[in-house]
Amino acid sequence: ASVAATGTVRSTCPYCGVGCGVVAKPDGTVAGDINHPANLGRLCSKGSALAETLKNDDRLTQPLIDGRAAEWGQALDLVAQRFRATIAEHGPDSVAFYVSGQCLTEDYYVANKLMKGFIGSGNIDTNSRLCMASSVAGHNRAFGADVVPGTYEDLELADLVVLVGSNSAWCHPVLHQRLLAAKAKRPLRIVAIDPRRTATCEDADLHLALRPGTDVALFNGLLAHLADQDALDHGWMAAHTEGAEAALAAASAGAAQTAEITGLDPADLARFYAWFAGTPRVVTVYSQGVNQSSVGTDKVNAIINCHLATGRIGKPGCGPFSITGQPNAMGGREVGGLANQLAAHMRFDQPEALDRVRRFWRAPNLATKPGLKAVEMFDAVLDGRIKALWIIATNPADSLPRAARVREALRACPFVVVSDCWPNDTTALADVVLPAAGWGERDGTVTNSERVISRQRPFRLPPGEARADWRVLASVAQRMGWKDAFSWSNSAAVFREHAALSGFEKGGTRPFDISGLAMLTDGQYDALAPVRWPVRWAGDAGGRLFGQGGFATPNGRGRLVPTPFRPPATRTDEAYPLVLNTGRIRDQWHTMTRTGRVPRLLAHTGEPRAAVSPTDAARLGLTDGDLVRIESVHASTVVRATIDAGQRVGELFLPMHWTDEFCSAGPAGRLVSAALDPISGQPELKLTAVRAQAV
Ligand code: SF4
Repeated sequence: ASVAATGTVRSTCPYCGVGCGVVAKPDGTVAGDINHPANLGRLCSKGSALAETLKNDDRLTQPLIDGRAAEWGQALDLVAQRFRATIAEHGPDSVAFYVSGQCLTEDYYVANKLMKGFIGSGNIDTNSRLCMASSVAGHNRAFGADVVPGTYEDLELADLVVLVGSNSAWCHPVLHQRLLAAKAKRPLRIVAIDPRRTATCEDADLHLALRPGTDVALFNGLLAHLADQDALDHGWMAAHTEGAEAALAAASAGAAQTAEITGLDPADLARFYAWFAGTPRVVTVYSQGVNQSSVGTDKVNAIINCHLATGRIGKPGCGPFSITGQPNAMGGREVGGLANQLAAHMRFDQPEALDRVRRFWRAPNLATKPGLKAVEMFDAVLDGRIKALWIIATNPADSLPRAARVREALRACPFVVVSDCWPNDTTALADVVLPAAGWGERDGTVTNSERVISRQRPFRLPPGEARADWRVLASVAQRMGWKDAFSWSNSAAVFREHAALSGFEKGGTRPFDISGLAMLTDGQYDALAPVRWPVRWAGDAGGRLFGQGGFATPNGRGRLVPTPFRPPATRTDEAYPLVLNTGRIRDQWHTMTRTGRVPRLLAHTGEPRAAVSPTDAARLGLTDGDLVRIESVHASTVVRATIDAGQRVGELFLPMHWTDEFCSAGPAGRLVSAALDPISGQPELKLTAVRAQAV
């Protein structure tokens, strides 16, 4: 199929959480959408190469049962029959769905409704667990809801932007370009807090290369400094927050050790603290370097504490700001795609929410407790508690920690279904493979990091017999006996139901309320322009939240949470003396199923290379380009070394993208630690103890 055979189509980039608008044109090109509020026409290298990812050469085009081509009817009957039989014999918690921030909101909604409302288990989790679960947990603790209070414009209006664990120049490039454009016009300081000297640090006025996992100590030190300097907003705190006393006490208790714990120069610390204290408009951006940690939730709250204590939230140029990795991590959070959420930001521990959702769905078996989070879910597959698993739009055989163990779990699982666009290391282990419609073929919505809901619109037909995930899920649900509840005619109907569920029956309010979109006609849904939630009535559009208080906690107050410093769970020792950090590179996406097929994107970095500090390289006898073996307790790999003066001594960095399909080194996920944040369940992907030697 050719691009935009039916004319120019506006859609949304399928990669990162910036959520840029794109225009697919009849000449086969994809350009930035100047009318989209996220990017105003800009695209990064990945977004600009979207048209080159549309070849169908090796797409999945037909259902496969045990590796052999099958009819859709056969495959759907088999999936429904095996799930039904497993549930009948072993109960609803013996099955699970593992979905993805690549899913559209409509896909997510149907999957969540099927698992939590009809099968009756909380066992649906998403690969967003690897991306931003700690931010979700931190937001819920501080705000009473999972809300990003600000907008992208706040980064342009701020006088100080603090980037924590966020290589935005490579991972959220268009937002980074907006920040640099603002900095070029007026005085705007950037502070980058990252153990590595990344591309982002080159644009910063100050780089704090802190010891990995010590962000809590850094921000506790900041809170204590703000208190010492009388730089807190006591009036705002008294009117709108609670918990300040305990949070300040916890912060002050460890403040004297901040330089020692973080490994930072006291003069650099003093400069950062003075800039924060003396700048009324501050935005603190945080992403995977904060979240992917066994202390990730505390890191998020230590950051938010500083904003709540100074009233720097929900006002122009102010606020804590989580930037998500994936295009629809936010949409997944909205429908309840995480195992510990119910639906529409409602929680399992709210009896009125359980009642509301049960009645709204006419759910015969509503789950009443959270299910298993991603890493625990695959542990349960391996030990036999989960006997039927459906994986949608994600590749856990490469991307989850201890990836070899995940493969073992998939081999051991009696029944595995995988829905995807391309064959990969996970589809290779499936009993049933279902071909999915991909970007440019799917019809639905996504929500970006600033709460803007945008349309992904189709402009070509799916190859072969590939189908939209929500339709496949609905077909299976109908075959399992729930015909009426899963009988939407199109994605607009799914969206209207999702929007209606988000509204309140009798007064009340919650930040995530898009009931103003519940009456969209099919035509209005087709034409829907990007809109920020909350959307409580037709024509409403959300702005900044919490500037005047009004948090989603029972008493309306934002909570400062005490975050005494705890070292990360993963420790180095004599056997494994180095720290391995994993992450993204500029031009690749996830496990490369799309970007790995574009030569000009591969040209930026053609193979996975381990970044090694000059000191470690000398000790190991490595020169640039030499092969190095990196070994953790879980696995080992051999890659080329890049000598990188931006690496701290004792620390290595390895890109997360490469898989067995693209490189003999295999996925970095095989090596990675499965230590979890006890609150969010997010794995510590930024910190694995390893050893290295020249090969
Ligand atoms: Fe796509 Fe993100 Fe690049 Fe925008 S910044 S074009 S959303 S990858």
